[in-house]
Amino acid sequence: APKVVIIGAGIVGANLADELCSLGWTNTTVVEQGPLDLPGGSTSHAPGLVYQTNPSKTMAKFATYTVSKLESLKDQDGSSCFNQVGGLEVATTEARLQDLKRKQGWAHSWGIEASLISPEECLRLYPLLNREKVLGGMHIPSDGLALAAKAVQLLVKRTREKGVKYIDRTPVTGITRAGGKVTGVVTPNGTISADIVVCCAGFWGVEVSKMAGLTLPLLPLAHQYVKTTPIQALKDRKNPPNSASLPILRHQDQDLYYREHGDFYGIGYYGHKPMPVNAASLGQTPSTVSDKNMPSRLTFTAEDFAPAWKESQELLPVMREAEIADGFNGIFSFTPDGGSLVGESPTLDGFWVAEAVKVTHSAGVARAVAEVLVQGKSQIDLSDCDLSRFEGVQLSSDYVSETSQQNFVEVYDILHPLEPKQSPRNLRVSPFFARQEQLGAMFLEQRGWERPHWYKANEKLVKSLPREWRPQERDAWSSKFYSPIVAVEAWKTRTAVAMYDMTPLRRLEISGPGALDLLQQACTGDVSRPVGTVTYALVLDDNAGLRCDIIVARLEEELFHVGIFNPIVIETLSRSARKQSQQSAGKWASIHEVTAGTSALGLWGPRSHAVVRKLSEDDFSTGGFPHHTVKRVHIAGIPATAVRLSHVGEAGWEIYVNADVGLRLWDAVFDAGQSEGIIAAGRAALNSLRMEKGFRDFGSDFTSEHSPAAAGMEGLVASGKAGYVGSKALALLAGKQPEKRLMTLTIDDGKSVVMGKEPVFQDGKAVGYVTSAAFAYTIGKPVAYAWLPSKLRQGDKVQVEYFGKRVPATIAANVTVQEDWMDDRS
Ligand code: FAD
Repeated sequence: APKVVIIGAGIVGANLADELCSLGWTNTTVVEQGPLDLPGGSTSHAPGLVYQTNPSKTMAKFATYTVSKLESLKDQDGSSCFNQVGGLEVATTEARLQDLKRKQGWAHSWGIEASLISPEECLRLYPLLNREKVLGGMHIPSDGLALAAKAVQLLVKRTREKGVKYIDRTPVTGITRAGGKVTGVVTPNGTISADIVVCCAGFWGVEVSKMAGLTLPLLPLAHQYVKTTPIQALKDRKNPPNSASLPILRHQDQDLYYREHGDFYGIGYYGHKPMPVNAASLGQTPSTVSDKNMPSRLTFTAEDFAPAWKESQELLPVMREAEIADGFNGIFSFTPDGGSLVGESPTLDGFWVAEAVKVTHSAGVARAVAEVLVQGKSQIDLSDCDLSRFEGVQLSSDYVSETSQQNFVEVYDILHPLEPKQSPRNLRVSPFFARQEQLGAMFLEQRGWERPHWYKANEKLVKSLPREWRPQERDAWSSKFYSPIVAVEAWKTRTAVAMYDMTPLRRLEISGPGALDLLQQACTGDVSRPVGTVTYALVLDDNAGLRCDIIVARLEEELFHVGIFNPIVIETLSRSARKQSQQSAGKWASIHEVTAGTSALGLWGPRSHAVVRKLSEDDFSTGGFPHHTVKRVHIAGIPATAVRLSHVGEAGWEIYVNADVGLRLWDAVFDAGQSEGIIAAGRAALNSLRMEKGFRDFGSDFTSEHSPAAAGMEGLVASGKAGYVGSKALALLAGKQPEKRLMTLTIDDGKSVVMGKEPVFQDGKAVGYVTSAAFAYTIGKPVAYAWLPSKLRQGDKVQVEYFGKRVPATIAANVTVQEDWMDDRS
């Protein structure tokens, strides 16, 4: 087995050593700066509340794995590292009560038992609650308390027995490398060689990653935790010391959570101002760490806790007899989007991180990293927490600091899935931005880009919508970040012509003598076809799991324009290119990202041809510019690359020009299009139109957990092609029925628009979940995609659970994406 060095013996590092052992890798050394019996990181003081429910399926699966592992981890007296007291989240506001229904939906979607309970049932489960305050709650029987510090000790013992070495009181001070690959770690006692180094240094991760030349988007923040004096009502429960028998309790309306510690309470608080910490300023970990003296524990600032104490006495009146016995400001990691950071450094092969991981997700993350290292892939899709999901602008220290602090503030807030950040904004704008603002674009932000969702300028057309295109009334939640203008934009795209800003879609130019081989190897399509052709295909992993869809336009023999729907895949392509040129110097391929230097305009709709004809002498006729072809053209005198494809299932082109002439292109097209009824249209209409056409989005609709056939994308695999990544595994899948398939549903009442992630029920049982949803204006009904058992058939009836209500839906005709997916309907 390769030699692995893990930096940090917190709950993540210890679990990783253990998971590697369970997969057969035992040649591992764990280096820890603190003393092994209590290293002094966040794990050493973590109260260990494990709430499994999460909007992210990946995070929820990490949590359920952690629960089952900690339950099975027993010490000599047979007691486990998990106290399954259950979890109770209470609502004290109407908005929270509603939101718990949405949360229960996530639990059902990810296979976690959860029930919404009345105030009386809350009191039955938790008699110390103030009945006056509580409007209801959600109970998760399988939640509970992780005994994190004890788990670390048991994991150390069991992995030591398998050969793992632990070196404590030894800080890693440097990372050594050769030829772009990690070779070891530097310590005051010498260098330890390694083939793979995994940074599990908790909130010190920023410092350790710096040693490897990696900017980690992580901010250490202090979070207050107090312990009360003993309380009679808890004494009466006769818990063993530090133990608990009441459910763990969340009072999110006031940013609070609670657990019992024997006869007193522990209270955690997120309502105070964010308190950023610079890990480098904490100095060396002392050689002996105690409960009160550890680097991750800062002095308690009592004034910040004052509102929490008052609210706690309101919710749990027994606290009125108590005082705060001990408090501290404990440090742990926050990130710009609240997710963990998992993956290999894009610039240093063999340097991995497993960072910003809560105790709740620790064993699950460790399992996934071990699977990736040993088997090449984890069973759980990692794109939600992939280290490479951030763009350059999101790695600046100002951005990380501001957004991570915002994340702390919002950690218990009720957030709409489309809710945009207030700040920082306008980090990346397309060359069309000035015109979009003039047209009253409603911007939402993604990966730093401002993306119009609809344009206020189109509002005047709402009254001219034909009856069958008129939008339906929506409920309050799905009306947020929505406008009836979207119906206009969909209607105009289907009946006239619309222009869409596609600039943020990541685009690459891949060139050189090895470009063709690189792409042939990377994707399922045959990109060796002549210059001028366009291939829509899939990128798979070795196990034939989907990594993304990809558009490859052959501009010259050795020059390809590539549109990529999962930014993480760019790292993979770069790595493959490096490997390819190492194996054969003549086969180099250069990968140049052109997203920021170019602009992309989608010109789609039945009148698109009439518009472009006014602006260009090039042949844009169907005969002269067939589907799936690319041409270099001039439009209004501007040199452009036009690809005959659409993301909405209409005639038209995606037009790329250099950024400096983007605005001129927009103006020329907009002016020439006036007589054809052109409008600018936004992402909301695009989402509705792409769903009508059957187009799937990577991340929400399909991930590496799915095969092409399961996702209905087998039409994008070139028949007879072999030798690409995943082709062998795909051949083994041939003829096998996937257990679940991505299916299309229509909502029976013709108006309830769900948002995604809702569970789907059949015969009272949750059988799957919604991925994305929209109102489909062309057919006048809401549609949703959902992962459902393969045995379900067109016409079968199911129910989507939306805010606790079961909304009847019907399985629609199976849509299979074909290579001609992007063609127009003509
Ligand atoms: P750590 O436990 O910090 O381990 C990292 C280790 O790396 C440390 O031991 C450190 O000494 C070592 N290290 C760092 N740099 C170096 C170096 N250069 N060389 C060698 N060793 C190094 N999570 C939950 O799930 N539920 C909760 O209820 C919960 N409550 C919390 C309450 C508080 C007050 C706080 C502060 C955190 C809480 N958390 C909770 C978060 C949780 O504690 C952390 O997310 C988790 O413990 C992180 O584990 P880790 O192994 O990544 O980091």
